Amino acid sequence: MIAETAPRLDAAVRDLRVRAYRVPTAQPNESDGTIVWDATTLVLVEADAGDRTGIGYTFADLATATLIREVLHDVVVGSDAGCVARTWLAMGAAVRNLGRDGIASMAISAVDVALWDLRAQLLEQPLCALFGMAREAVPVYGSGGFTSYDVPMLQAQLRGWADAGMAWVKMKVGRDPGADAARVAAARDAIGTAGLFVDANGAYGVKEALGFAEAFAESGVTWFEEPVYHQDFAGLARVRAAAPARMEIASGEYGYGLDHFARVLEAGAVDVLQADATRCGGFSGLLAVDGLCRTKNVALSTHCAPYLHLHAGAALKSLRHMEYFYDHARIARMLFDGAEEPRGGALVPDRSRPGLGLEFRRADAERYAVS
Ligand SMILES: [Mg+2]
Repeated sequence: MIAETAPRLDAAVRDLRVRAYRVPTAQPNESDGTIVWDATTLVLVEADAGDRTGIGYTFADLATATLIREVLHDVVVGSDAGCVARTWLAMGAAVRNLGRDGIASMAISAVDVALWDLRAQLLEQPLCALFGMAREAVPVYGSGGFTSYDVPMLQAQLRGWADAGMAWVKMKVGRDPGADAARVAAARDAIGTAGLFVDANGAYGVKEALGFAEAFAESGVTWFEEPVYHQDFAGLARVRAAAPARMEIASGEYGYGLDHFARVLEAGAVDVLQADATRCGGFSGLLAVDGLCRTKNVALSTHCAPYLHLHAGAALKSLRHMEYFYDHARIARMLFDGAEEPRGGALVPDRSRPGLGLEFRRADAERYAVS
């Protein structure tokens, strides 16, 4: 893989392209504790420099693609591909009047990932090596268990992951609280001794969540994600303080700017912080969150998009595990080369491929194109 000519460090970004692909869910509708969805939109960015193209993406919507095209394109084209940090700062400045969180941050995230992939490709290095590896294999937990599944389907999905060697699996709760304890018990029956995580997506109130924490503990649940609304840091901290000792509280997937993560940690709201590079400013943002985790000795778990996170996951100092989210793993294997199945409960970055190690299958994706 190592070229005979020196890798280029000073190439200018020549072009930045964005497309959006709307991929229907496997089932007609999927749901968690607080929303229902029937499709997932992949916003894909390609950045060219020299003879290389870097890719990045976020799971967002058409507005995100529009913002990349209308606002970020001119910031990025002509920038130095070796100066990802400078371009990240310039993108942040460019969205000042739009609001840095939400759509703008998802747009910046997709571009930042593409620029890191591009930089690693220009250097002819796998991205994990460029970041500096902390581990060779990255543990994953199986995540799905939607509230739209009936109990046999819930059990089959979670059992499949446990049987494949994943140490933990996660299911959704909170849509029909009266059924939650029985569904969680049914999941426990299906997975043997594997770790069982639940995610309420903010569906409960504080007292309600504490009641469920006790009920879920009877099924050996060790991870209670977003028991209450994610911005209610005091509420999360109350649940964390009163939950059973073996049950960790997790949140952070809706963190965009670094200040959100700092406030979650300062409030003592979580045992494990979650962060998503497709939302929090790409790898540039995620590496900063990893640094924050070190200040509080709190573990970090990446949210969704397992194949996008893989190389960064190998390098994050505080990483506990990555979320192997059903919808995103399915889309990755439909549309990308290089998205291999987990083995023994882990994903391993392919160090023979430069960058993210992913190749977008444009022809397979075209029928889903919406922009
Ligand atoms: Mg979640």
